[in-house]
Amino acid sequence: MSKNGEGTLGWLKDRNRERVLGALRERGRISQADIARMTGLSRTTVHTFVAELKDSGMVHEVEASVPDVRGGRPAVLLVLRDSSLAVVGIDFGHSHVQVAVADLVHNLLAERRCDLDVNYHAAEALDTATRMVDEVLIEAHVERKSVIGAGIGIPGPVDRARGTVGSTTILPGWTGLRIETEMQERLGIPVEIENDANLGALAEMSWGAGRECANFAYIKVATGIGAGLVIDGRLLRGASGTAGEIGHTTLDESGALCYCGNRGCLETVASGPAIIQLVGLVDGEVPSLSRIVELAIAGDVRCRRAISDAGHEIGVAVAGLCNLINPERVIVGGLLSRTGEVLLQPIRESMRRHAVQAAADIIDVVPAVFVERAELLGSLALALQSSSRRTARAAVQAGG
Ligand SMILES: [Zn+2]
Repeated sequence: MSKNGEGTLGWLKDRNRERVLGALRERGRISQADIARMTGLSRTTVHTFVAELKDSGMVHEVEASVPDVRGGRPAVLLVLRDSSLAVVGIDFGHSHVQVAVADLVHNLLAERRCDLDVNYHAAEALDTATRMVDEVLIEAHVERKSVIGAGIGIPGPVDRARGTVGSTTILPGWTGLRIETEMQERLGIPVEIENDANLGALAEMSWGAGRECANFAYIKVATGIGAGLVIDGRLLRGASGTAGEIGHTTLDESGALCYCGNRGCLETVASGPAIIQLVGLVDGEVPSLSRIVELAIAGDVRCRRAISDAGHEIGVAVAGLCNLINPERVIVGGLLSRTGEVLLQPIRESMRRHAVQAAADIIDVVPAVFVERAELLGSLALALQSSSRRTARAAVQAGG
């Protein structure tokens, strides 16, 4: 006899129903065809479950605001009515903490931001984030027991197996700290951590320039340079979570020494500090990276040149990446992407020059939709994705 009814029709039905609900929670709005693609269930099975969910009032239909990419009339999308549950997103930047709460229908209910020197004050940052979670929940009228998960963003490599920061040089005050465990204890809900570039990719995949794109590379160009890679609709994390460390691609073996210990990394010639050094003094002062971005947007030729030269070098590394993973789109985000074509055009040209033609021909290089809030929105997308997977796993385990 099977355990807990495993293998029976009733068990299979519950399990498949959870998979359909999981797809709805993860995407917020989704067509029946995409549910079938995501879950691997047949269209007929999906149709049956959707009809049941509509009858019970859990799901309703809306018309897509954009026409179907394959042409034809706008698709009918399904949306969950269940807005009683919520997820929390927490973004730790180097000098700020941001917190937001969203329901499972992907409505952003409340958000807060606080300036804080996160690099050296890890425990204080965790306490501040916990307090801010309480504040956004009150503001959004969401009870703590309705929150089913949290996503947390860290501005550095993440060791996913240990739930810690994977580098001692990037966030010195966080070394050895088990962020996942610490935050899980403080919040009393399951949490998952992820690095900033991967969160940018998740935000673009869920609501931005990566929608309807199964294979893309998100490149974050800010103080550092990182990539979030989406392959077949899933984030590629690699064996230890360091996939996408494009900033440490060697461009010149005898180049300048990088903080990672190697020489001639992309970051030694194209990161924020490298651009600041190249620009030199502005009105007698060393400018911040934000100031250089503002000046470039205003037409300052020196700042534009420094950023476009960085774009050229980034394009060389992106070409190597495109040869390896063959994406259909490269989405450029991070503070420097605010300069638009000043950065994008040299990336595009240099990528086309250095990548194999078959890979380069199909690639669009486009700006990200989200810049300042990319990590915060990505941490919400991570929480939505993880909670839908946990639901699906629980359904499988309940069956056996
Ligand atoms: Zn390096």
